[in-house]
Amino acid sequence: QADSAMYRAKEQGRNNFQFFAPWMDTQVSNRLEMLINLRRALDQDEFKLYYQPKLSLKDGSVIGAEALIRWQSPEQGMVPPDRFIPFAEDAGLIVPIGEWVLRTACHQNKCWQQAGLPTIPVAVNLSPRQLNQSLPDFVSDVLAQSGLAPSCLELEITENVVMKDAEKSVATLHALKRLGLQISVDDFGTGYSSLSYLRRFPVDALKIDKSFVRDIARDADSAAIVKAVISLAHILNLRVIAEGVEDEEQHAFLKENACDEVQGYYFGKPMAVADFTEWLTRRAGSDLAAPGK
Ligand code: C2E
Ligand code: MG
Ligand code: MG
Ligand code: MG
Repeated sequence: QADSAMYRAKEQGRNNFQFFAPWMDTQVSNRLEMLINLRRALDQDEFKLYYQPKLSLKDGSVIGAEALIRWQSPEQGMVPPDRFIPFAEDAGLIVPIGEWVLRTACHQNKCWQQAGLPTIPVAVNLSPRQLNQSLPDFVSDVLAQSGLAPSCLELEITENVVMKDAEKSVATLHALKRLGLQISVDDFGTGYSSLSYLRRFPVDALKIDKSFVRDIARDADSAAIVKAVISLAHILNLRVIAEGVEDEEQHAFLKENACDEVQGYYFGKPMAVADFTEWLTRRAGSDLAAPGK
């Protein structure tokens, strides 16, 4: 077994390939194997984007869609991003993967517009490594190639992305803003941004992390935090969106407290292109009555 290069291990319902060489410990071999698989995934087009609607709380209209990556792995089936994005980040593969995401989301959004669907911005998540000086030029090229208007692209960054190297990040964010796109702060409340930086970041919206939204009805602290973030956003002249909205109680609370936008399973799950197209078509046709399916 020591000399066989690849050997399939099945443990606790999880299929994974393990690459063994005598000099490697399991952790190293797992990482190497993940790296090889991700590289192949990129070359063989195994990544997919799912799209989840964002809605206005005022009138229930669809005001955007977030692109969320999935990995259709031949061995493991559909792999969620939390299981491979951290590896991709460590391995430096997040840059090419992120470029693929940006190109694909922009082209897809342009396709929807050409098919006569409502014009909405598509939001793309950015990893820390992607936010470097060459990003604005890259984004500008992608917009030009896809023909998508800059106002139809939104970038989601987490607080930690920007705090890592705040001075450089602020400059890059300004360069991105000059292209005319939208920027939002994802998972707000879970990171380390200071209020003074938040004021200096050229961002348009805050996304309240779903961990606070989940406990709105049961936990007074979470409810208070959600209210505080909504006020903070409005004081700073930012839009505020709640993610992870799963039921009517949370929806009602957010509406009552003047949150601007919502996203969550209650309104629409992340969907493959065909499903999202159908969802959006139906939604645009039926004049946006109650939320849900
Ligand atoms: P995120 O950007 O905060 O995305 C929101 C996550 O919440 C998504 O998980 C979404 O499917 C999930 N979600 C949406 N509505 C609900 C709900 O009502 N309840 C619950 N419990 N969850 C809900 P997903 O798709 O597994 O993505 C996880 C994270 O992976 C994302 O969090 C984002 O940080 C990262 N990610 C996804 N796509 C990309 C990508 O293309 N590039 C990078 N760098 N990161 C990505
Ligand atoms: Mg996001
Ligand atoms: Mg989030
Ligand atoms: Mg998140």
